[in-house]
Amino acid sequence: MSRIFVFLGIPGAGKGTQAKRLSNDLNIPYIGTGDILRRNVQEKTPLGLKVKELLDRGELVDDETMIEIIKNEIKNTDSFILDGFPRTVPQAKALDNLLNEFGKKISCVFFLDVSDQEVIKRILARYSCVSCGKEFNLYLDEISDKKCPVCGSELKQRSDDNEQTLKERISQYRTKTQPLVDFYRQKDLLKVIRGEGSPDEIFSQIKKVISRYDNN
Ligand SMILES: [Zn+2]
Repeated sequence: MSRIFVFLGIPGAGKGTQAKRLSNDLNIPYIGTGDILRRNVQEKTPLGLKVKELLDRGELVDDETMIEIIKNEIKNTDSFILDGFPRTVPQAKALDNLLNEFGKKISCVFFLDVSDQEVIKRILARYSCVSCGKEFNLYLDEISDKKCPVCGSELKQRSDDNEQTLKERISQYRTKTQPLVDFYRQKDLLKVIRGEGSPDEIFSQIKKVISRYDNN
């Protein structure tokens, strides 16, 4: 059975966490475009060098390159989870064309809906270890003592943003994400998940939606 899931949500909604968890749970590949781009930049592959050049100039990776990446990732698998792509309606249409080419289609699109207040709380909860450098979220990782769960050293806050700049950034993200949400809603693929509550609670909502889909 082919299962293709797409995760949408503004940064801080926790979609990466949930998408990876679902990937483990269903034992299907997680395709996170952020991870793929970062890996290529680190390994200095031809793609990575191109991406780095674009990012250094403050530009985004073009749709054609993104589609090429996705194509490579999905050509040999029937089931997968997409995180970080598509980001725009033209990308979503390009993805549809690509899936058509392979005779596949999206099972459903999860939109993790979280309030500004909640997102701000989570972003301000991002910490990293002063000693081993590992990154944690006090809130999502349920850390109450600001000590690194790996090595026991002190954790320090990563973001120097204040609430006002975060609010402005969130509002920009909402404006960008909305057309994509509308696009998938019109196609009747959108499942809105209330992204508040513990990671476990959110995950069980996602699983409920999938079990309904599996029974159809
Ligand atoms: Zn540490």
